Amino acid sequence: MRIFDPHVHMTSRTTDDYEAMAAAGVVAIVEPAFWLGQPRTTVGSFIDYFNSLLGWERFRAAQFGIQHFCTIGLNPKEANNPKLADEVLQMLPRFLNKDGVVAIGEIGYDDQTDAEQSVFTRQVKLAAEYNLPILIHTPHRDKKQGTIRSIETIRAAGFPEERVLIDHNNEETLPIVLESRCWAGHTIYPNTKMDEHRMATLVKKYGPDRIIVNSAADWGISDPLKVPKTIAVMRAQGIDEATISRIVWDNPIAFFGQSGRLELAEPTARQAIDRSQKFETNSVLRGEQVR
Ligand SMILES: [Zn+2]
Repeated sequence: MRIFDPHVHMTSRTTDDYEAMAAAGVVAIVEPAFWLGQPRTTVGSFIDYFNSLLGWERFRAAQFGIQHFCTIGLNPKEANNPKLADEVLQMLPRFLNKDGVVAIGEIGYDDQTDAEQSVFTRQVKLAAEYNLPILIHTPHRDKKQGTIRSIETIRAAGFPEERVLIDHNNEETLPIVLESRCWAGHTIYPNTKMDEHRMATLVKKYGPDRIIVNSAADWGISDPLKVPKTIAVMRAQGIDEATISRIVWDNPIAFFGQSGRLELAEPTARQAIDRSQKFETNSVLRGEQVR
């Protein structure tokens, strides 16, 4: 089964992770722009980060046979520095027409402050202007209220709900999202939040419509193999292959395909990958390595 992980922060992962993901069947990913674990202090740090998502990281993924797409946006945590946030938002449009950018995101709420609200609303307007879908991060604290507010913000802007993916859902927020026309993402983390078994239970209850599963793996305790692991549990619980394939392949493609920029190639045969290829002057090979 071909697998699409539609939310994974590969910049903070290793080549071992890429190897393991490719071996498990992951052939395409979306890497959303987010924060780096500590706040950036200048707009140039954002520019370099966005360029690395579109350049080096896309190249690095390809060296393991994985197609890499990204979303570009100002995350809610860093929206709370109003001066810097304004500079980032003014610079953002230069990235929104680039190949490989399949949505604006992750945007949304962290602490649900006024500054976050203002940055959220401005980025919804940018998404409308650049005809891009939106990826919304729901907060860890007060998730239900954050989910409801996110849908209200989308509606108040008159933005089409079917072009919105609301992420990090749980049993409490999923019915709220499904009542709207937004798509519902689920992050499968180790030890916390939604796990593989809870996810399989939700699929049995609600079916596969607008349901998406991701690993959201980053620099924290997380697992870039959580989508294949969830597939294994769904299978063990008797969920049929067509339903599983819709969730881990068709749905993310249908959602991000709305950008008009999700051009999926036939998966690269491993033998055909030439790791001596260079991005600018750098390759993934080290020392005497030839493959
Ligand atoms: Zn994320």
